[in-house]
This record gives sequence, structure tokens and C-alpha cells, in this order.
Amino acid sequence: MKIEELHHIYKSCKSVCTDTRKLQKGDIYFALKGDNFDGNKFAKTALENGASFCVIDNPSLKNISEKFILVDDVLIALQQLANYHRRQISFPIIALTGSNGKTTTKELIYSVLSSSYKVNATKGNLNNHIGVPLTLLSFTKDLDFGIVEMGANHQKEIEFLSSIAEPDFGLITNFGKAHLEGFGGVEGVIKGKSELYNYLKENNKTAFINTDDKTQIEQIGNYTNCSTFGSTDTNDCVINFKSANPFVKVSYNTLLIESKLIGNYNYGNIAVAIAIGQYFKVSPQKIKNAIEAYQPDNNRSEIINIRANRIILDAYNANPTSMLAALKNFKQLVANKKYLFLGDMFELGTSAKEEHQAIVDFAENNFKENIYLVGENFYKTKTKPLTQKFNSFENLKIELSATAISNATILIKGSRGMALERILDIL
Ligand code: ATP
Ligand code: MG
Repeated sequence: MKIEELHHIYKSCKSVCTDTRKLQKGDIYFALKGDNFDGNKFAKTALENGASFCVIDNPSLKNISEKFILVDDVLIALQQLANYHRRQISFPIIALTGSNGKTTTKELIYSVLSSSYKVNATKGNLNNHIGVPLTLLSFTKDLDFGIVEMGANHQKEIEFLSSIAEPDFGLITNFGKAHLEGFGGVEGVIKGKSELYNYLKENNKTAFINTDDKTQIEQIGNYTNCSTFGSTDTNDCVINFKSANPFVKVSYNTLLIESKLIGNYNYGNIAVAIAIGQYFKVSPQKIKNAIEAYQPDNNRSEIINIRANRIILDAYNANPTSMLAALKNFKQLVANKKYLFLGDMFELGTSAKEEHQAIVDFAENNFKENIYLVGENFYKTKTKPLTQKFNSFENLKIELSATAISNATILIKGSRGMALERILDIL
């Protein structure tokens, strides 16, 4: 079937569905394959539950129903359809990638732009080779802007996602030590993320550049189709970091913007949202209100007060860059008693040992006591006598049930797989 025809069918359907458990009547179901499942097996169920059409790639199902559309490869069909759909779109598409802070930044940009425009954006964290097509296919004609988060853990992924989303504007939140295993070290991360800049350059599209970040300046080189932001007066948009104790405050225009985000590292995330707001003529007051209204969720740097403790819950994910940023931020917080709970950082490949040790060293040099480490990587590090380490969450739990912590400020951070938010139930 031609992509035009598939697009015609898609447009007659309610929405795109890839999981029969979430199917709504009138959807078009795409029978994707995962590591452990084959969506073709659920195509009949999808039909019974009210799907208008099912896109399949198992030829033996073809004759079951005329509502089954046989393609060579369902994933490729989904991606091609998304790109075809994108080409029908006339409003600007803004794409963002980076090692840390993508979702936070996406939400901030969404908050700023939707104060004045009709905007749609990536839902949650749907930022990969399936999520980006689904995001594009969720964009309806009546929008003023679409925002697309693009994630990657290996080379050429951002190049591929850019070729599907064909963004008009792009930004990279930061270049950090995340997914080192798949990218092949920090140089690999820089190269991989810069694939978005390459797309923008090759197609003469606009890049938002944070001039306070040397790597962004280096990577964008002498490309001139840029809108710059940062602390120096020569920028198109001038924003200054004020303080972060605990919440990040920035000055912009004549206004002081008081965010609900903690951590100095959120300065860049906030700044680019302001810069985009200004670029698209959102008034400074509306920008301020939008930034101040945004509250992080999903264990992303949330502040929680329970049982006389103040907890910075940053258990959504962790990598060497965000871990160090969180520790530096925690260090400058004013508190009489501090506790650290750090969980393993994943996907570091051969750098795992060295990177975990570097975090332990930093923590021990900057916090004298109450350091709790959990996970197999942290367990293998060399630690000082006062530091407590546990090779499993269960062992930490046993220790904590016998320890009373109160009137303390506590940082909890680890990779998603560590699910350190479980500590909240024990404290
Ligand atoms: P994912 O790769 O899972 O999509 P993401 O890039 O979307 O992650 P967020 O979900 O926005 O990132 O933030 C996750 C965590 O990263 C935050 O809770 C915070 O600890 C950290 N973080 C956010 N922004 C930065 C930044 N600019 N530099 C360093 N760490 C950051
Ligand atoms: Mg994300």
C-alpha cells in the first residue's frame, strides 16, 4: 500500500494505537514487534475491541479481515507515515535533544508557548524511534506549534529521528555523560547529539544556542541561522542566573522569575524556554507566569516533606553528569543535617568503575557523613569507613528500618532501574 493511501486511512481514524490494552474504538492499530512480543498476535483482539484498521506484517493474517492492512514492516510503515504526515504540517516543529533535561525543558517550552498559542508536545517520555513517530501523528492541523523530544543512546539515532520530524527549530539541552556505553564515551555523546545541529545546518533551519555552554558554541561553529541566549548582553535573549536555594531564580527583561525547579543545572533548561518564548513574541509577563507555574513530577527533582524530613527526590534517572550536578547543588543548600542516598548509574559500559568511584570521591570530599550507597557498582567502590554501602536495595532496607532519620535534608538519586523512590516508604 502506498503511504498516501495509508495516510488517508489514518486520517479517517480516531488515533494511533500500538497497545491493544489502551485501544479506543475507532483507532488504527499498528502491530509493532518488541523483544518479547509480536503485535501481529494481538491484531484480532484489536479488531474485536473496535479498531477501525490494523496495520500488520504477518502475511498469514491478511485474509482474516479487509480491515487488516498488510505492509512489509509495521515499524517502517509507522515511521514513513509519520514523516508523510509531518510534511503536510505547516506550523513550526521544534525538536530538542540532549543528555539531561529534555523532558523538563520540553514541559517548560510547552508551558511558555501554550500561554499564547495552541501547542502539542511529546507525551511523557515518548522520545525514541516509535515515540517520535507517534508524537508527530498526534499533531492535528489546528496547532500553532509542535514540540518533539528526541532521545538517543547510540550514534545516528538523532540523525534518523531528525529525518522523520524535519524540525524547523532545534536545541540541545546539554552534552553530558549519559549512555556512554552506546555512544562510545563523551566524544561520542557530543557527536551523536550534534546530529541535530547537522540536520539544522543542512536544511538552513534555526538553532537556539546557549552561549554560556562552550560545547554548544563549538558544535554549532560558524553557522549563522541561530538565535542565542545566555548571560552576556550580546545575546538575542539575555537571561541571568540569580540563585538556587533551593529553587532556581533567574532575571529576564525587568522581571525576576522564581521557578519551582531545584538545581543550578535547571538554569539552562529555563533559559531556553524563555528564549523561545521571546523569539515567538510571548510577553515577558506571560513567560514569567508560565515558568513559575511549572512543577516537576515523576520523581524529577521533586521536593517532598515527610515525617520532619525534607527530601529531594531525584530518582527518575542518573548518569555521571546529572549525579555530579545534583551533588553540587545539594552541597550549597543550607541545612543542619544532610543525608545522601545514591543508587547505581546504568549504561556506563567500561567507564562504570571509574565513574562510580569519581562520584564516591566527590561525595566523601564534600559530605563528611551520612552517605549511603546502593547497587552493585557502588558496592565495588573504595570508600571511607563512615560511608555505608549496600549491594542490594533489600540490604539497605534492613539497615534503614533500624535507623531513625529526622529533621534532615535528604538527597535521593539513582538510575531508573534502581527505583530509589522506594526509600520514601521506609524513612
Ligand atoms: P530521559 O533521557 O529519560 O528522557 P531527560 O533528558 O528527559 O531524560 P529529565 O527527565 O528532564 O531528563 O530530567 C531527569 C533528571 O536529569 C532531572 O531530575 C535532573 O536530575 C537531571 N537534569 C535535568 N536537567 C539537567 C541538566 N541540564 N544538567 C544535568 N542534569 C540535569
Ligand atoms: Mg525525557
